[in-house]
Amino acid sequence: MGMFSKAMSMVWVLIIVCTQGQPLKAPKEISSKLSRNPQSLSLASSDYGHIVHETPLAVFEPSSIGDIRALINFSNSLPNPFTIAPRGQAHSVLGQAMAQNGVVVNMTKLNGTRIFVAPCDGKSPLGCYADVGGEQTWVDVLHETLKSGLTPLSWTDYLYLTVGGTLSNAGISGQAFRFGPQISNVLELDLVTGKGDLVTCSAEKNTEAFYAVLGGLGQFGVITRARIPLGPAPTRVKWLHLLYNDFTAFCRDQEHLISMNERNDSNAADYVEGMLLLNQPPLDLSFYPPSYHQCITSLVTQYGIIYIIELVKYYANNSQPIQQVANLVKELKFVPNFRFEKDVSYEEFLNRVHGEELYLRSKGLWEVPHPWLNIFVPRSRILDFNEGVFKGIILKQNITAGLVKVYPVNRNK
Ligand SMILES: Cc1cc2nc3c(=O)[nH]c(=O)nc-3n(C[C@H](O)[C@H](O)[C@H](O)COP(=O)(O)OP(=O)(O)OC[C@H]3O[C@@H](n4cnc5c(N)ncnc54)[C@H](O)[C@@H]3O)c2cc1C
Repeated sequence: MGMFSKAMSMVWVLIIVCTQGQPLKAPKEISSKLSRNPQSLSLASSDYGHIVHETPLAVFEPSSIGDIRALINFSNSLPNPFTIAPRGQAHSVLGQAMAQNGVVVNMTKLNGTRIFVAPCDGKSPLGCYADVGGEQTWVDVLHETLKSGLTPLSWTDYLYLTVGGTLSNAGISGQAFRFGPQISNVLELDLVTGKGDLVTCSAEKNTEAFYAVLGGLGQFGVITRARIPLGPAPTRVKWLHLLYNDFTAFCRDQEHLISMNERNDSNAADYVEGMLLLNQPPLDLSFYPPSYHQCITSLVTQYGIIYIIELVKYYANNSQPIQQVANLVKELKFVPNFRFEKDVSYEEFLNRVHGEELYLRSKGLWEVPHPWLNIFVPRSRILDFNEGVFKGIILKQNITAGLVKVYPVNRNK
């Protein structure tokens, strides 16, 4: 947990490090940015999971990349280097951004690269891209790139996460079947390595560092800049929910939808996900017109679990994709008439979880334990997973499940 996770035993008190009985002072530029105030320590000892609690010795608040290098160099100069963990928004669920008895680097204090959208004049061999500080949130990246009519291609469902944080994991959402996860959508990175060097890396340059850090759980370096490819931004989306009572039909249709993209079918969806509607409170029906709440509730009560395909077709203001959406759903085997559609702006769609966040915060249900699990299940076992877990455990044992999402991605992405 935390970068350089071989946590060494050490005695380390704020700016004085005792080694073999000799007090050792941290350099001034470091000590002035180390904080032990109770608020900072308490914040760095917790995360979105509210399951693991580990208190660091101090929180480091860098104002420059040079500060991060100085901290790492200082640690390396000691006989027993201390554990260092970069922390973005701490939306991890099991203490991944914590450093027991080490130093947590509060990346949000760093305002390094910020967000720079390169002029997209068709001349760059890289195409359109943005250079983004590792501490920036994806919601800010969205706002900034939209000003130029551009957008990153691959997202997470929730956008108040940092670029460094999701690139240290994977960054998966309903666009991953088309473009791959966010870690497959990076042209270049700047890193401060475990040796304190500032390194620029890509698929062509310093490749070992590049592929170690992407999905590297913060163990191989601190991401200070990422170059993210951009494409033209749509303005609006058709956002559909299709309800199924049969898991086999649900999976077959999801697979059919993502295969349309492989065949370069112009009707293909731009986003495909799926989720469970469980017969347990609270039944969230906010997507659906109130006049349908009663019949959806009856359906869920009858079957115990309803499976929802969530799909989206992007479009520009002046070109409603009515025929494409009709082609997209015409062969799908959802429960007849249980097809629901919204028409919203691209931004509203991408930032959809924020509304849920505000609602849950207002009910005191955001800062609660989140024992979340994300797993890849091979296609050959997904029906067993439904029988054994969704029906066998959640339904039969009536276990309160919270949000359950299930959707396919292509291995080649
Ligand atoms: C409501 C919600 C919805 C989510 N939805 C999705 C989703 O749809 N898809 C998805 O893929 N994930 C999703 N996640 C998970 C999320 O992507 C990860 O938890 C991610 O790590 C969060 O980013 P963060 O900035 O909070 O990172 P943190 O939790 O702060 O850090 C995560 C890891 O990255 C390291 N790290 C942080 N910054 C840097 C950096 N600059 N350089 C190197 N290492 C760094 C940390 O040390 C830690 O190991 C969701 C999380 C929440 C809370």
